[in-house]
Amino acid sequence: MRRFTEDNGAYERWLADNQDQYVVNAERSLNPNNLFLHRASCATINGTPSRGVRWIGSYVKFGGTRAELETEHPTARACGRCL
Ligand SMILES: [Zn+2]
Repeated sequence: MRRFTEDNGAYERWLADNQDQYVVNAERSLNPNNLFLHRASCATINGTPSRGVRWIGSYVKFGGTRAELETEHPTARACGRCL
């Protein structure tokens, strides 16, 4: 599993290479009540973020297989758009 906590382009590069994997989107505090599991290909976590918003900042990302992410973040809820 990869953890992305800095806005340095590593997340975007990982996503491009791992579109068949999964991502957990988390508040920087890792608030267990606000964790969402996405397919890496989900439109809500790909492409150019809305104006003034970065992918990594107040939110951080974890990337890996679905099993890895569900083990590490058992409270993560499935995204309604991609899962
Ligand atoms: Zn999604």
